[in-house]
Amino acid sequence: MNRWFITLFLTLGTGLGFSQEISLPTIPALSYHNVRTFTSQDPAYFITPEEFEKQVKKLKEAGFQTVLPKDIEEGFLAGKKKESKSVMISFDDTRADHYASAAPILEKYGFRGAFFITTVSIGKPGYMNREQIRDLSDRGHAIGLHTWDHQDLRKIAADQWEIQIDRPKALLEEITGKKVTSLAYPFGLWNPEVIRQIKARGFKSAFQLGGKADPNDPIYSLPRILVPGNWSGDRLLKEIESRF
Ligand SMILES: [Zn+2]
Repeated sequence: MNRWFITLFLTLGTGLGFSQEISLPTIPALSYHNVRTFTSQDPAYFITPEEFEKQVKKLKEAGFQTVLPKDIEEGFLAGKKKESKSVMISFDDTRADHYASAAPILEKYGFRGAFFITTVSIGKPGYMNREQIRDLSDRGHAIGLHTWDHQDLRKIAADQWEIQIDRPKALLEEITGKKVTSLAYPFGLWNPEVIRQIKARGFKSAFQLGGKADPNDPIYSLPRILVPGNWSGDRLLKEIESRF
């Protein structure tokens, strides 16, 4: 795999005041939105369950295993398993079909996913409810934050961080009983001030779309491929190979 590596310093235990140099690979990470039948919508944001399963099956056959944000945060890929084929499969926007279709398909192949939640949507028609989010977490999937109502974080007022980040983070932690340390930027958009804010609010990783990781803050600007519903499994493998 044609990987490139970013060298960075991770401060391990700020209280201890030392740092350790590690190599952090860019992790192949995939982003899906709607996993259901569709007709005229943009295939960038839709994939049928049947086509999704073909892609997942192809990843399995190619020897991939799934990783979750906490694995990336813990330097999982910088350690002993960095040579193995790893991919993060993620889902944005809290859709009900993530629970009904995507998660069961992942589990059929021994995979787990990362689900980034816009908390304003919880319990609304067509979206996951609290119990489903809790169940995903209990089954070993990761629950991350996608803000309260999907604002461009580069443009929010100073008093909105509590609304968009702090309260939704606390809600997801109440629902899952676990710490929420990973965030997907709405629209994939971020800047250095956004990174500063989410770092201060307890996040340890964040994902964008497209682009490349910022060498200054790679773990807060991890790229994901927006996977269109009309890609074959072979096309997906090629894209992973060429982009990560
Ligand atoms: Zn989104």
